[in-house]
Amino acid sequence: MNQNRVYEYRRNFIMSLGGVAAVGVIGSGFVLQTASAAGEIAAKPADQPVTNAKRWGMLIDVTKLTDGGAAMVAACKQEHGWGDEMHSADAQKAHWSRVVKVTDKLTQNSFSLPVMCQHCEKPPCVDVCPTGASMKRADGIVQVNKHICIGCRYCMMACPYKARSFVHEPLQDQKPHSPRGMGTVESCNMCVHRIDEGRLPACVEAAPDAVIFGDLNDPNSAVSQAMKTVGGKQIRADLGLNTGVRYHGI
Ligand code: SF4
Ligand code: SF4
Repeated sequence: MNQNRVYEYRRNFIMSLGGVAAVGVIGSGFVLQTASAAGEIAAKPADQPVTNAKRWGMLIDVTKLTDGGAAMVAACKQEHGWGDEMHSADAQKAHWSRVVKVTDKLTQNSFSLPVMCQHCEKPPCVDVCPTGASMKRADGIVQVNKHICIGCRYCMMACPYKARSFVHEPLQDQKPHSPRGMGTVESCNMCVHRIDEGRLPACVEAAPDAVIFGDLNDPNSAVSQAMKTVGGKQIRADLGLNTGVRYHGI
């Protein structure tokens, strides 16, 4: 993903906000700021360590997802190859993201949204892991080290978003950038291999009008500016986990 494409995605997202919000964004000169922020996911040289200078995150505008996020989930599956287990029942298959339907019991209003690891600033999954396999990178990406995961599944129980799953059987034809293993835990890793190459996560590419991705530490980044304008709700904000995945329209 080159930087022009990154800019294009962000511009589409901002323009898609519509109505008063879009007028406010354009009127404040935000589009110009977006252009200057296009390099925020520039490729990281392999010899440079990951630092906490950036914190990666995304804002998902649920009102712009006409399919409830199905295309995002499909792109994730394509990128990481989960869900192709031969023998598991559907309920047992590993997953990295899923579409969740929410219905207000009072009004019966329903909508769907994609739910993946929320990349919590204070991740309970990391706190409970006995081996350190469940870990958070300095740039906020939470992931599982398959080499030292012992499959105890404490992290699955600790995750309030049910964002993690378990591989029950041997896997074949794994993607080289996304190795997985029987008896270990699966979870969205924010497409860390793409980010380190200066590319957008697969699900973000799949929903260019509905998702904006970037550096939450930079107040001038496109994602920070968008959240300043339209908000960025957390699922279960009451838990105080300060998630890196935020939503608009929920
Ligand atoms: S959403 Fe779940 S798996 Fe992801 S960081 Fe938070 S607790 Fe961990
Ligand atoms: S960031 Fe990557 S791993 Fe996470 S849900 Fe999106 S496509 Fe899947």
